[in-house]
Amino acid sequence: MKNLIYLITIALLLSCSDNSDSVEIDESLSKQEIDDLQFLKEEEKLARDVYLFSYDLYAQNIFKNIANSEQSHMNSVSVIIKKYNIEDLSFDERGKFSNHELQQLYDDLVDLSKISLENALIVGATVEDLDINDLNNFISNADHQDMIEMYQLLNCGSRNHMRAYTNNLINLGLDYKPQFISIEEFDSIINSTNEKCNF
Ligand code: ZN
Ligand code: ZN
Repeated sequence: MKNLIYLITIALLLSCSDNSDSVEIDESLSKQEIDDLQFLKEEEKLARDVYLFSYDLYAQNIFKNIANSEQSHMNSVSVIIKKYNIEDLSFDERGKFSNHELQQLYDDLVDLSKISLENALIVGATVEDLDINDLNNFISNADHQDMIEMYQLLNCGSRNHMRAYTNNLINLGLDYKPQFISIEEFDSIINSTNEKCNF
């Protein structure tokens, strides 16, 4: 009986060590793919946190609705991060980022958003402009189909967000000039109707 328990213990230990082997980082991932996913998780969080900041200040539904959508974008990135067992560098706390560039960008964008509702809407269009440009780059860096599909879904959402912010700006008599994507890509987005992105 003692021997049997001993054998069962060994078998359990072996099966545990098998499990721990299976959670190592997938070797097919490139350093660039890992960097992009870690950056994107925080970039989506930056969008959410900036919009929540503007919603607290101006109580305009556009900010709350798009912040909710950014939360679902963060969740989509988390699914891939977990699947490939990549370290998630993002904090739970609103307005706090591990990446120093994103921390600086967040601080600058909320300072701008504080000035006026018009500024907060321009900040919104700027964030979407940056996101679309980065997602385009991440798509060309990626070698895994599930990542590419996730990036394309987020890009679809970002185009809808861009339409929402620019339409609000147009209603206020303001127009937005793209700072990251090309004028051709920007025009093709704002001159087309909202897309269904399957979220
Ligand atoms: Zn997003
Ligand atoms: Zn967005």
